[in-house]
Order: sequence, then structure tokens, then C-alpha cells
Amino acid sequence: MSDGRLRRAICRAGKLLVRRGLVHGTTGNISVRTAWGYLLTPTGSALDRLDPHELSELSPGGEHIGGAPPTKEFRLHRAMYEVRPAANAIVHTHSTHTVAVSLLGDVDVNDMLPPLTPYYIMRVGRCAVSPYRIPGDAVLADDVAQRASTYHVIMLAHHGPVVAGPSLDDALTTLEELEETARVYLLVRGKGYATLDASAVETLRARFPAPAP
Ligand SMILES: [Zn+2]
Repeated sequence: MSDGRLRRAICRAGKLLVRRGLVHGTTGNISVRTAWGYLLTPTGSALDRLDPHELSELSPGGEHIGGAPPTKEFRLHRAMYEVRPAANAIVHTHSTHTVAVSLLGDVDVNDMLPPLTPYYIMRVGRCAVSPYRIPGDAVLADDVAQRASTYHVIMLAHHGPVVAGPSLDDALTTLEELEETARVYLLVRGKGYATLDASAVETLRARFPAPAP
């Protein structure tokens, strides 16, 4: 995809995230891998008011080479791209229901949500939970790097999810599926809900494997 098309795709994605209630205020950030490095949303930007010409440009080594200063969470994005060479886009939000699930006392840090629907298994598969760190901290990026070769969806505890995808559309769809499943889980939790049985989950995982790292 050309540079101009990637820039417009990021701006469209930002509007979609806001319209669907997946981000609020100036939270959330988006990046794509380009032929020359990375395009990212600038620090402090509201995602529905992005200027395609002001997106931050980073070199493959992470130096700021053009546009506005990048999101403070750029380390997180780079850490994930480094261990997932097939990833071309990353979306990070503070989506309400996903954050709420990560705060529950009995959350499984290797598989945050139970297998409630087939689309969750097909799009998300498993979501790992990474321990709380100060946003933008290098340690947070290290934590993500440790998990990102296995997981394309990682929840930063008390903070928000990070999703890597082979394309921006793919990463967005996965993030939406995660948030909606978290919402369903909060609706049924404590009410004796049913999960998909283990053999159904196994069949879905075999037929719809997670994207290659
Ligand atoms: Zn964040």
C-alpha cells in the first residue's frame, strides 16, 4: 500500500475507533509498518481528528524522522513489531470492557476470557495479560516483547489491550471482537454461563489458527 493510502487508512481507523466507543479523549494509538519504517499516531492526539500529513514517522531503529512527535507508547509498538515480523499494524486502546475484565480477581493471565463464542476463538484465540507498568515505560515494552511471539493480543493490566495484525483492518476487527466478548462476559459472569466445550474450541483453533508472528 502506498504511503498516502496508509496515512488515510490510519485516519479512517482512528475515526472508527472513536465512533465505536473503543477509545475516549486522547487515549489509544495506531501504527503501521511501511517500506521505510513506521507511521504512528502523534502523542496527545484525538484519534478522530488526525491529520494524515502530521502522522509521526519513525525509522526501523525507532528514531523520530518526520511528522509530529510519536505517541509515548511507541516503544510498545516497536517491541511487538520486532518479535512479530509478519505484523503490519498495531492498535492499542483503553477499551472499557476489556480493561474491566483484566481487573477481575480470578483472571487467567494466559487466556483472559473464557471461550464464549466461536468468533472470539477465530479472531482473538487467546489474550495474555501483561503485569501493570507505568505507561510508556521501557519495562512495559520488555514485558510485551516476552509475550508477543506467542500472542498477537495482549492486555496490559489496569491499562488496555494491544493487538497486532497482518493488516490494519485485521487488527481493528480483532480488537472489536475482544471488546465485544469482554462485554458479553461481564453480562453473564456470575450467572452460571455456558462456554463452548473443549472439543469445539480445539476444532476452531485448528481451523482458524492465530496469525503467524
Ligand atoms: Zn495506553
